[in-house]
Amino acid sequence: MRLDRIGVDESVAAVFPPGRLVDRLGDATDESGVDVTAVDGSPEGMADCDAVVTLEHHEAYLDLSWVHSIQAGVDRFPRDRLREAGVALTNSTGIHGDAVGETVAGFVLALARRIHEYAASQTANEWNRPDWDEAWTVAGERACVIGLGGLGRGIVGRLTGLGLDVDGVRRDPLPEPGVDRVYPTGDLREAVGDARFVVLAVPLTDATRGLVGRDELAAMDDDAYLINVARGGVVDQSALVAALRDDEIAGAALDVFETEPLPADSPLWDFEDVIVSPHCAAYTRDYYRHVATVLEESVRRVGDGEDPVNRVV
Ligand code: NDP
Repeated sequence: MRLDRIGVDESVAAVFPPGRLVDRLGDATDESGVDVTAVDGSPEGMADCDAVVTLEHHEAYLDLSWVHSIQAGVDRFPRDRLREAGVALTNSTGIHGDAVGETVAGFVLALARRIHEYAASQTANEWNRPDWDEAWTVAGERACVIGLGGLGRGIVGRLTGLGLDVDGVRRDPLPEPGVDRVYPTGDLREAVGDARFVVLAVPLTDATRGLVGRDELAAMDDDAYLINVARGGVVDQSALVAALRDDEIAGAALDVFETEPLPADSPLWDFEDVIVSPHCAAYTRDYYRHVATVLEESVRRVGDGEDPVNRVV
């Protein structure tokens, strides 16, 4: 792969200012001679780039050699068409474990310690104490983390640190440090059965679309919470709304949704024990630095005639 010029697409502005990454990569690639520039996403801006770093796909990218997604998920890219066009696609898997792990720990603590309720009361200047039996502590409770990759491992580390016991689910049930029992995906209903928190951390694929539906929600305890930091499509959202309405589960913390932004008339906004966050579980002001680290290694490898890191196509 020839690599003279890398563009940073304006769509990354949803996560960090493009100029930050351009400056950071510019410094790092001085030695390699690769030029890094911000582009506006138009075909003209892209024409003299070999590669682009982006949040979103544009048709013009089918003419490049390499597209790098600043996210771990690549569900928004047309993988088959990129493959046919001979374009390499890489992702940023591996950089999100700390940020998402801390967000999930925050959800767990908020739900148990009722912090989301105090925040809601504060907006109304109301001094509302919880009932005597509402607040609880998480040490000794069990979580089930579905997906034990970069995200899942970050989550497991934070939850075991809080004193929870953790089970896990993945396709090949190999043991994982900090995880008591690893179940294969086929045993998902059994795995979620005695968890107080079920945490989703899998990619959205044909195999995981609708992975958590009516039966899986029914298999959860009625005092259990679903935490989704994966992708909205991993959960059957109407089945989730029904389970919440019928008190089949206690609540949820949701960072991702079938439709984003979550429409204003979605019932998910209105449940007392549902925390809604706007797909920002991985946000951190260091995000661009982490992306730059992945890209620097890729530029080095491409210079040595190897594949860039995290190649998915
Ligand atoms: P990884 O590729 O590192 O890990 C994915 C994990 O999911 C692996 O353990 C893999 O299992 C498991 N998995 C894949 N398919 C299945 C399946 N059918 N059943 C059970 N387990 C499965 O990815 P990341 O951890 O970095 O990211 C995971 C996803 O999280 C991303 O694709 C993205 O959609 C989402 N994400 C969301 C963010 C947010 O802001 N909310 C931020 C970052 C990521 P195995 O070990 O068997 O291969």
